[in-house]
Formats: sequence, structure tokens, C-alpha cells
Amino acid sequence: MSACALCSSSEKVSVYEVMPSSSFPNEITLCQNCQDQIDRKTAVQPDYWHFLADAMWSEEPAVQVLAWRMLNRLKSESWAADLLDMLYLDDELSAWAKAVGDEDEPVPVTVHKDSLGNVLNHGDSVVLTKTLDVKGSSINARIGTVVKNIRLVDDNAEQIEGKIDGQLIVILTKYVKKQNG
Ligand SMILES: [Zn+2]
Repeated sequence: MSACALCSSSEKVSVYEVMPSSSFPNEITLCQNCQDQIDRKTAVQPDYWHFLADAMWSEEPAVQVLAWRMLNRLKSESWAADLLDMLYLDDELSAWAKAVGDEDEPVPVTVHKDSLGNVLNHGDSVVLTKTLDVKGSSINARIGTVVKNIRLVDDNAEQIEGKIDGQLIVILTKYVKKQNG
């Protein structure tokens, strides 16, 4: 089987049907990661989708339609909005692309980034870049403290949660640095 028609990955690829069916061929090869995000089985990770800058120029109608849909969901990101401006679909394709309503619900941007702009994920370890004053507690949150296995606060890109001294506290992303490895 060939590579993913969107990201070119050759891992876990399978045939994907672009819905709803239309007069265009609607079966394309996609990797699991792309499929899961398209089908909303996992959260859309905006930074994952930069390959759309290439994929959107595909000659396959189904690929153009998926690129258009994903760019619409990501259009609160300026790079995606820019690409969307360049992606022209003729009337028939445009109607197919719009059939599922992605343009109506852009993904809210809740990308969590550390003080240096590195993207943070669930389960990462971070280092405090500032000594935190945790009100009403004796938690020792000194600069340099490592916080393992962080959780991202879903609707607030500036907050993560992590345990210090065994207690779960909210930490502002601007006061942490991602720990590599
Ligand atoms: Zn893919």
C-alpha cells in the first residue's frame, strides 16, 4: 500500500473514504494519525498539519477537499488561514468540501507552549524557571524543580497541572521549560 496522501507517512496506512460520497473518487490512502484527527477521535494538533502546505496542491480531489476541511478547522492559526486563502476549489469541489460543516467550527487554539515556545504535551516533564509562590501552602516550588507527567488544562493554553511535593497544582506555562529526553 502507498503512503499517506496527506502527510506522506507510510506507517499504519489504510484506505479512507472521504464522506459524503460524491461524483469524485472518494477513496484515498491515509495514515492512522491523520485519520484519527480528521475523524475527531483524537484532538487536532495544529502543529502536526503543516504538511498541508504541500498536500493542498495535490491533483486528487479528495485530498484537496480534506486539506480544505482541515485548514478550516485550523484557521485560527495564521499559517492555516494564509494557506486557505491560496486554496481554490471549483464550485463542485467546494460544495463537497463544505458538506460536513468544518468551516463552521474552527478548532480553538489551545496549544500549550513553555517559556521558550516549545509545544507541551500530556505526560511531559518540565522544569520551573521561576520560584513559585503557591498561596496557602507550604509547597516548595523552587526554580529548577522538575515536574513530571504534566497535564494540559484543556481550555486554557497558559495553564498546566503537575504534582509538586505530592500535591497537584496549576502552573503557568510561562514559568516552565520543557525537559528533553
Ligand atoms: Zn498522514
